[in-house]
Amino acid sequence: MAALKKSSAKKSAQRPAKKAMRPSQKAIEQQARWAVIWTAQKMSAQKLSPGRSGNVSCRFGTGMLITPSGMAYDALKASDIAFVDTDGTFDAKARKPSSEWRFHLSVYAARADAGAVVHTHSMHATVLAAAHKPIPAFHYMIAVAGGDDIPLVPYAPFGTEELAGYVADGIAERDACLMANHGQIALGASLDAAFEMATEVEELAEQYYKVLTLGAVHLLDDAQMADVLERFQSYRANAQKG
Ligand code: 13P
Ligand code: ZN
Repeated sequence: MAALKKSSAKKSAQRPAKKAMRPSQKAIEQQARWAVIWTAQKMSAQKLSPGRSGNVSCRFGTGMLITPSGMAYDALKASDIAFVDTDGTFDAKARKPSSEWRFHLSVYAARADAGAVVHTHSMHATVLAAAHKPIPAFHYMIAVAGGDDIPLVPYAPFGTEELAGYVADGIAERDACLMANHGQIALGASLDAAFEMATEVEELAEQYYKVLTLGAVHLLDDAQMADVLERFQSYRANAQKG
């Protein structure tokens, strides 16, 4: 027994020093695939998009990882997540990517700071989008999306290049927009940030919808919103410290 111990100690002394463990590319990709799934499941569980509606993506490599088209979020596996390259190519033998892959790609092309995109049919954002009502500066928190409104882009059928073009315009200067007769889209540096933005949009949409039912909308003016946007810079900086 003692001899055995001695020889194994000798062996380990001869082994080259272990390199610091770096996750392989494969492991990094698996992790990113699961992060997309968890975000989509959270969206569904928090009732931010009914049934199989909505989709989630994050930038990855030369393209993006995106939820598959038409699948229930609960049962997704890492291999169900689709990779779509920047030029719109994907593996025809794997799961089909979300029908909205074009507008996800158009967000990444339009916004270098976007690391993730969440599209939902959340109740109140969708109600406003169906009524063709963008969300104006009815509350100072509208600044969360980067300006004095959450714009509405025109209707185009789902999955089309036309819709992708409208979305690119809608998010050029905002981190979210409504899509007429459809829903909302939100972006962020990370999946968590994009998800948080989609939640904020839905919250604001619900509040604005309720204000509309009272018929008494008092909008903040340009000077008030300019002041809020300036305050927001330092408000945000606190969370980014360290
Ligand atoms: P997909 O299942 O193809 O992602 O479609 C859902 C959706 O919301 C289309 O706009
Ligand atoms: Zn949709």
